[in-house]
Amino acid sequence: MSVRLRYAPSPTGHLHIGGARTALFNYLFAKHHGGAFILRIEDTDLDRNVESAAQEFADNLRWLGIEWDEGAFSGGDYGPYVSTERLDIYRRHVDELRDKGMVYECYCSEDELAVQREELLARGEMVRYSGRCRHLSKEEREARIREGRKPTVRFRVMDDEPVAFTDLIRGDMIFEPQGIGGDFVVVKSNGIPVYNFAVVVDDHLMNITHVVRGEEHISNTPRQLLLFKAFGWTAPVFGHVPLILGADGKKLSKRDESIIQFIDQYREYGYLPEAIFNFLALLGWTPGGEREIFSRDELITAFGLNRVNRSGAFFDAAKLAWMNGHYLRNHSAEELLPLARRFLEPAVAGWQTPVNDAWMIEFIALYKDQVSCLSELPVVGSVLVSDSVSVEADARETLENEHASTVLDAFVKLAHAWTDWTPDGMKSLLKDVQTVTGKKGKELFFPVRAAITGRLHGPDLNRSLALLGRTRVLDRLGKALAVSGARPVL
Ligand code: GLU
Repeated sequence: MSVRLRYAPSPTGHLHIGGARTALFNYLFAKHHGGAFILRIEDTDLDRNVESAAQEFADNLRWLGIEWDEGAFSGGDYGPYVSTERLDIYRRHVDELRDKGMVYECYCSEDELAVQREELLARGEMVRYSGRCRHLSKEEREARIREGRKPTVRFRVMDDEPVAFTDLIRGDMIFEPQGIGGDFVVVKSNGIPVYNFAVVVDDHLMNITHVVRGEEHISNTPRQLLLFKAFGWTAPVFGHVPLILGADGKKLSKRDESIIQFIDQYREYGYLPEAIFNFLALLGWTPGGEREIFSRDELITAFGLNRVNRSGAFFDAAKLAWMNGHYLRNHSAEELLPLARRFLEPAVAGWQTPVNDAWMIEFIALYKDQVSCLSELPVVGSVLVSDSVSVEADARETLENEHASTVLDAFVKLAHAWTDWTPDGMKSLLKDVQTVTGKKGKELFFPVRAAITGRLHGPDLNRSLALLGRTRVLDRLGKALAVSGARPVL
């Protein structure tokens, strides 16, 4: 039988890097073994559901290139793939356990349960359900129904033996029965099953062979195994992926603003999906060796759960930025234009002559190797897109030098009649300035660059001049010359 894995987010917020990493590990494992990857939406916790979150999860997974073979928003033979569309299926399975005497109605109110908990804690005992409603007589039950109490359904925990399983990542795990907390709720008083119940029914009916999920779910596994056993089903194999740690070595808190944590934010900042895909694959897993850049196919070929670390995975934001820079350099400016456009257009929105695609492509080409994400483009290239360019101290010094006004004056005179504002045209223009003034090298280039960009260093001067264009170059040079000693007012 081929493997079947699923990513089963609860639609309660945005797709977090931890969730995306879980989805990716499931995807890579399924693809490595030629099996199926499934997207299931677990929305049984009605109070926590956020409208449109499921759609957003799907969009962000697709953007990352984590496509599912079956599931929500696409369909398949094992649907529906959204928990709240499966309530009848759960109901039938609760009935099955009821018929076997394995579940019972519990009428204890929240307040009564709180009192029971307090008593246990006061005695220094572990919190567990007392089993009070396990043996209600018919009369007692009827009395509670007459009071209008809405029951939950609890699973009768019969075993007093430890629950054991072999985790694909963490090895042999044993849970003592006390840790299970006694008979646990499988259906809430609103009639909706809890996650621990729905997940078992779904994983079984969807033929899931491997459950790979975050370590925070490990304490749910014993309860789920008891349910698999109660139904007489073979449980899937489990693998619990380690936590993601922040720079302080502690579990990454979703509130930690020093790290970008949600996939939609990475999209917003102009990261490339393949960089995040590559980075997340190495977050807690290693193919061995020093290499860090891998294509999707290489990751699929190399992936296995045996090389997932047991200890937490340190989130190295600098490495992600480096990796994204690497992928940016590997794309041509034309390829990046569709992604970069939304960062560039606002930056040049005030320009009198609107810029076209060719301009943006040339701008991207000039700066893409210097940025780690596309949103940095207008920042790194601010001297070419902004009208308020500050003049750095060394540039100011150059402009105050007597050579400067000679060069700038000649440049302006030639530029007025110049028609070829391409990089090659600018090269010829500068050559003519050289002929006229006798200045060359730094004495020629520094004043021009200082006057148009406010600094002495930057990308190719001919291309920068061509990008700025005649009007803006003349405007900047004019301002630089207008002030005595060619001091620029940019
Ligand atoms: N719905 C759970 C979550 O969002 C996933 C549980 C599981 O993978 O079993 O954390």
